[in-house]
Amino acid sequence: MKTRKIKIGNRVIGGGAPVLIQSMCNTKTDDIEGTIRQTLELERAGCDIIRVAVPDMSAAEALKEIKKNIHIPLVADIHFDYRLALASIENGADKIRINPGNIGSYDRIKAVVEAARQKDIPIRVGVNSGSLEKEILEKYNGVTAQGIVESALDKVAVIEKLGYENLVVSIKSSDVMMCVKAHELMAKSCDYPLHIGITESGTLQRGTVKSSVGLGIILYQGIGDTIRVSLTGDPVEEVKCAKLILKSLGLRKDGIEVVSCPTCGRTSIDLISLADKVEMIVSDFDLNIKVAVMGCVVNGPGEAREADIGIAGGKGEGLLIKKGKVIKKLPENELLEALKQELKRMQAEASCN
Ligand code: SF4
Repeated sequence: MKTRKIKIGNRVIGGGAPVLIQSMCNTKTDDIEGTIRQTLELERAGCDIIRVAVPDMSAAEALKEIKKNIHIPLVADIHFDYRLALASIENGADKIRINPGNIGSYDRIKAVVEAARQKDIPIRVGVNSGSLEKEILEKYNGVTAQGIVESALDKVAVIEKLGYENLVVSIKSSDVMMCVKAHELMAKSCDYPLHIGITESGTLQRGTVKSSVGLGIILYQGIGDTIRVSLTGDPVEEVKCAKLILKSLGLRKDGIEVVSCPTCGRTSIDLISLADKVEMIVSDFDLNIKVAVMGCVVNGPGEAREADIGIAGGKGEGLLIKKGKVIKKLPENELLEALKQELKRMQAEASCN
């Protein structure tokens, strides 16, 4: 669904622009060095927008130095204290995330909106299913998708009344299908860009599955302008997962796609460990290609031929296949290195073109 275009630092979201990946540092923001280090690591992994928590003034002050040392837009996440929002804007935040419901009086919200207007930065209005107002909970008999959307629209209306429409909206629930429903309703109710995610989705495996299912359904309907996969773990994993979700939906083409077979009784090489190692080495290359890692000569050569480069395993050995042609037959323990050398060659060719 087409949303209006919003600028966040050097990036554009909405209006049909590609869906961008957001993550959040889990460092203490006033640990400036640590936050810069983690942000640069996330940038390398493919993060487009970084958010940091601003729980106190020293975090707000740290933004100035952090921003000078990173290359992607910096979002300040503020709760409760409007002065932290003002300081974050002053110190160069490219966007601020607030929940107008907990930022205080109308005058305080107005002060934040005026500061954002001065710097022309967007405000992300966020609502979480866990923090719905009592009246909404009573009206809808508990937490519902309709309630989440109504709460968010109420907050958007407060800022719109102040004449500010440089907004991004986010609505979150850890209940996957409620989250899907809420996004469907929200997309019909406004044209602000939507930041989407399944909140508190859990540890690496659970969170990856919940986020992939939820975000997959939402994105497939053309809803969502930025995404965050929230995982209880290393934020780099969030970015990797977000990239795979976008790639699986055909919303991103960049990077190497690894396809590997599930292995079966025909597999006669250690394919699981080989596929894991291939996943590791491909992240060092900047190529838009498909790499296949297949376990046997039944389906292997066919699949590997469809990829740009692939391995088809045999008994203690394997074939290296490039653009449909077998280029080498090698012992199992030499396959990974041979693949790496071929990727290096392809990378060198790509940089010459
Ligand atoms: Fe089994 Fe071969 Fe298919 Fe892999 S490619 S699952 S080894 S039949």
